Amino acid sequence: MRQTCPACQAPALEPLIVVDRTPVIIGVLCSTEEDALGAVRRSLDLHLCGVCGTVVNVAFDPDLLEYDGHYDNSLHYSGTFRAFSAALARRLVDTHGLAARSIVEIGSGKGDFLRELCRLAGSSGTGYDPTYVGPDRAEDADVAFIVDYYGPRYSDLPGDFVVCRHVLEHIENPLAFLRNIRDALGERDASMYLEVPNGGFMLSEAGAWDYIYPHVTYFSPAGLAAVITAAGFDVTGTGTAFGDQFLWVEARTARASRDIAPGTLAPGDVMGTVGDYVASGRRFGSRYRDVVGRWTKEFAGEATPGRGPTAGMDTKARHTGADAQAQPDLTSGRVLVWGAGAKGVNFLNVVGAGAAVAGVVDLNPNKQGTFIPGTGHRVLAPEEIAGMDIDRVLLPNALYLDEVRAFLDKLDVRAEVIPLLTEPRGTGTRGTVGGSTDEYRSTPAGGSAHVRRQGG
Ligand SMILES: [Zn+2]
Repeated sequence: MRQTCPACQAPALEPLIVVDRTPVIIGVLCSTEEDALGAVRRSLDLHLCGVCGTVVNVAFDPDLLEYDGHYDNSLHYSGTFRAFSAALARRLVDTHGLAARSIVEIGSGKGDFLRELCRLAGSSGTGYDPTYVGPDRAEDADVAFIVDYYGPRYSDLPGDFVVCRHVLEHIENPLAFLRNIRDALGERDASMYLEVPNGGFMLSEAGAWDYIYPHVTYFSPAGLAAVITAAGFDVTGTGTAFGDQFLWVEARTARASRDIAPGTLAPGDVMGTVGDYVASGRRFGSRYRDVVGRWTKEFAGEATPGRGPTAGMDTKARHTGADAQAQPDLTSGRVLVWGAGAKGVNFLNVVGAGAAVAGVVDLNPNKQGTFIPGTGHRVLAPEEIAGMDIDRVLLPNALYLDEVRAFLDKLDVRAEVIPLLTEPRGTGTRGTVGGSTDEYRSTPAGGSAHVRRQGG
């Protein structure tokens, strides 16, 4: 079992929590209910690094996972996500002068972001991803796709700007992976944009559903900066995006190689003190058990009336002046979950929702008609719920609140939408690049508004 921090390489980790029997495969939904109920499940044994605040699943077994064309974690069917993506592409093109450069994306998924970036910059790109399905060359952009994992066999990367989003957290040895990229860039003056789930967000209650089997590492800002620095890059900017759910780092190839002792953090301010992260991590175990316990009780019909996790969120009760305690609990069977992504799949499994939930709505047509691994809930297209008698729609990711409400209005479904534990925040990017604080906000048109504050 691993006892070294994959981020800062510190030689010891502290036990945090065990998440029982979560489905191993989350990005591939099941074609029959039987397959779904028989899906392989394993416990996560989460440990905390006391040096950098990164969280690691020490029980991770990479042999259980395989990424191929069936894997689909595309979020591009959501307008909210597309707006975020477009704003990010615009920012990268502006700040890195991408028009004159060739772009490489490692883990390009179905290719949506790389095509958008190259179209916008008028530049060429190459994407590596074993789950890509489609033509070798994109029709709407100068982009080639290589259907494979990126690894040492690709020793000469065809570009000098590297994008790597939501890959590093899946990899058992992120330092070796980043060193491969660094070696392939050689003497070039190259830069990189790296994005992962924000380990800091996940240590808040709102992140409780984000611990999933395919992710080995939940990076803290200090941990992410440490591993990138150790791989031979200089960090030039850090920040969070998508309602604090994502953590990003920008870096450039370092001129000289350095020997960095295990457990050494990058110098400078890495978004708040590391001590706060570690302290928050140490408190997270009891908070997590409390949150899961409250939802589990409410689904089992054992919550004290008016005291369950949905109490106080009951806007319908307030509108009608009805007594909140008289509201139906979650055992009515007239409850849906919106979103068959990682958060939704994990939530349903962890809280034992069972027959209390009538189904899961998802905008991705490839997911509709399939079943949730572990629980067997059916995935529905939004149109399918038009005639259903639904009280409540549980929303694992509060960022989609407005989008979901608009869908329900259009379908004339008068259900209350209940975000799981978090207040909706903007999807904009926040962070520090070259000593000044920048804020990028998505605009409804899919562009971005740029606000710069000096000396932030
Ligand atoms: Zn660490």
